[in-house]
Amino acid sequence: MYLIFRCDCGRVLYGKEGVATRKCVCGKTLKVKSRRIFRKVATREEASEAVQEMQNEIYGNTDFKLASDL
Ligand SMILES: [Zn+2]
Repeated sequence: MYLIFRCDCGRVLYGKEGVATRKCVCGKTLKVKSRRIFRKVATREEASEAVQEMQNEIYGNTDFKLASDL
């Protein structure tokens, strides 16, 4: 199982279940157990897709609005 969670910086990350910590690209080391888990998926591929979907939900719409204003 892979867990989908967010860093305080807003980035969406995934980590294999059972792994204690995960380092975000912002430099922060997250304790996986203390994070709110958004989703659980079975495979690494699904985890990667789920992260992409969530990033799109969070950032994608904004980008779209900005693009349409041009
Ligand atoms: Zn971060």
